[in-house]
Amino acid sequence: FVILLTHLQKPTDAAVVAQKIIDTIRRPYRVEGVDPSTKINIGVSVGIALIPQNGLEAMQLIKHADMAMYKAKERGNRYMFFTSELNKQASERLFLENGIRKALDQKVFDLHYQPIVGVQGFIEGAEALLRWHDRKRGFISPVDFIPVAEETGLILPLGDWVFETACHQLKTWNSEGFEDLYVSINLSVKQFSQEHIVDTLSRIISRTGIDPKNLKVEITESSIMPDPSEARMKMLELKKRHPGIRIAIDDFGTGYSSLSYLTDFPIDILKIDQSFVINMDKKGNMKIINTIITLGNSLLMDVIAEGVETRNQLEYLLSKSCKAFQGFY
Ligand code: C2E
Ligand code: CA
Ligand code: CA
Repeated sequence: FVILLTHLQKPTDAAVVAQKIIDTIRRPYRVEGVDPSTKINIGVSVGIALIPQNGLEAMQLIKHADMAMYKAKERGNRYMFFTSELNKQASERLFLENGIRKALDQKVFDLHYQPIVGVQGFIEGAEALLRWHDRKRGFISPVDFIPVAEETGLILPLGDWVFETACHQLKTWNSEGFEDLYVSINLSVKQFSQEHIVDTLSRIISRTGIDPKNLKVEITESSIMPDPSEARMKMLELKKRHPGIRIAIDDFGTGYSSLSYLTDFPIDILKIDQSFVINMDKKGNMKIINTIITLGNSLLMDVIAEGVETRNQLEYLLSKSCKAFQGFY
């Protein structure tokens, strides 16, 4: 609904009206035919745009009020004013969305490979990390554009491109004499939740002719949790079709899920989230690291530490029998 308030003395008058609307509608309802002890609640979110500060034309004002309303909704049943900050966020999002499309078309994405190093100091494999260099804006971090790619669905073509490119690279390395080198590829939540994800990955694996024993896929707990039994089926199917392929849980220790999934799922590797390693000196983090290593060892999983930035961190991890490391150091 759109409500037009005229003759406001000051902007906050709009907030007073919005709050009245919220409070009134929020009161519980009794519905005919439903047990009277059952009360029904309706939530309301209100976005406010002001004339002339936020625009002079109806369409623009409605659009801005709408953006404020979505923001209010995210925070749960309240009112919010449109702000220039919101506007900046929206145009940034639009820029990223259009940019991803264009970058896909023009093939300007790039993969970088971060070495994963074993106890002896040799490189045993590498994680493929997506890089986007925009001609005008310079380097754009995946932390910024992956979420937009997820929301818009562009992660699907982008993810396919990543998977295929990384498999080609793996094939090349393996046939150049590095037979045991592996590559680890990230799969986002939306990618993994696709119904035909296993078929898609299978097709690329067959087409590129890689050896599945040199391939790892990384997923996060958030990929498992929305539908654990379906996630489990997909993982089992992937492993059945491509024996030797390994599945890693990325950012382990930051999710909120129950640990029981670790024994029920065909998981091979735990990747200790980099925040624990980078902030090793912070109280409790060493204990968490020790616990994850012990947990991994007793479940016969490999443990990889991420975010190893210093010699000290490496030495500590070595002393706790962690077997593989990744990071700037
Ligand atoms: P991630 O999978 O946890 O990747 C590790 C991130 O930590 C990478 O950031 C890497 O550059 C960074 N990193 C590695 N070593 C260190 C270190 O010692 N210290 C610090 N401070 N950071 C370190 P990056 O490349 O910016 O990627 C960020 C995230 O974006 C990734 O986190 C991953 O979730 C996502 N991402 C990157 N590439 C892809 C991709 O191809 N597909 C999908 N779905 N997600 C991707
Ligand atoms: Ca990762
Ligand atoms: Ca990680």
